[in-house]
Amino acid sequence: MNMLAECPSCGASVKVTSNVKLGEIIKCTLCKTDLEVIWLDPLELDLVYEPDEEMDDFDYEDDDDDFNYDDYEDEDED
Ligand SMILES: [Zn+2]
Repeated sequence: MNMLAECPSCGASVKVTSNVKLGEIIKCTLCKTDLEVIWLDPLELDLVYEPDEEMDDFDYEDDDDDFNYDDYEDEDED
């Protein structure tokens, strides 16, 4: 027997098997979001929060930007 739980991401009804366990990861059939079973009675799903490693790429430091304009001296091409 399947149960239905609401996807917190898109609001779709996600089919979950009745023998699902707490903490189990279920993928929403509609938005393909990974959902964690956070409660069984009533069945509740929550988004799985994973550390976003891609965010580290945005850690730009201004010190890194020491572009040396002196290397680009004007050369007389005339
Ligand atoms: Zn969804």
